[in-house]
Amino acid sequence: MADKIVASNWKMHKDVEESVEFAKKLKDKVQDINDTEVMVGPPYTSLYSMGEILSDSQITMAAQNMHFEDSGAFTGEISAKMINSTNSDYVILGHSERRHVFNESNETIRKKVEKAYEADIDPIVCVGEELEDRKAGNTAEILEEQYKSAFEGISKENFSKAMIAYEPVWAIGTGESATPEQAGSSHEIIRNFVEEQYDAETAQNLTIMYGGSVKPWNAEELIQTDDIDGFLVGSASLEVKSFYEIIEKVENYIN
Ligand code: PEP
Repeated sequence: MADKIVASNWKMHKDVEESVEFAKKLKDKVQDINDTEVMVGPPYTSLYSMGEILSDSQITMAAQNMHFEDSGAFTGEISAKMINSTNSDYVILGHSERRHVFNESNETIRKKVEKAYEADIDPIVCVGEELEDRKAGNTAEILEEQYKSAFEGISKENFSKAMIAYEPVWAIGTGESATPEQAGSSHEIIRNFVEEQYDAETAQNLTIMYGGSVKPWNAEELIQTDDIDGFLVGSASLEVKSFYEIIEKVENYIN
């Protein structure tokens, strides 16, 4: 069985002071959360300070992106080594905003996945179809393309350190979540790719998060769905209250 997790993606929100305040409050709140992994995804500028505060807690941390080169003339970019120096455990790669706003291709994302493994940072790879793809019945095809380009040829040992976030583009930031059936079906499709590439055990152990307008009111129903192992939360993760309520739903479901 895959572990259960609730992760946040703050995108371009919160300065250092706001992030530190949030980290302190969240750390205090989650003391009784024992079975759900709680992860924060602040902007680069807050990683180090939040890492200091969270170092003696069970809360893990992800950077939202990174470059695939080690160093060089890439103004505005951040390397894996830099992320390592902030004590981040994970990096989110291939988020739909990176794919669609910053034109990142599957090839670029693949290079980043390889660099993350090399740097010992566990990748969280986001995959998801656009509305037109879904309407045209191409969801499985898009997921296959994104999954395979990220992981084909990756050793089983490395793959077992990865997580996948299924985030349908049409559900991100829109308030329109996928239904449990839609999300569950996409998660099953992804797990089948993993089983085909590796084996049933690796597929079952993979944590697949759902992301796209997850809120305290829909988290309970979604977490009960087969193949959904947790959530990657955007806007509802910006307040401790709503983020914690989602964590609580997952923790209560486990217990
Ligand atoms: C996200 O940005 O990954 C996300 C899922 O956002 P939201 O929860 O706001 O839809």
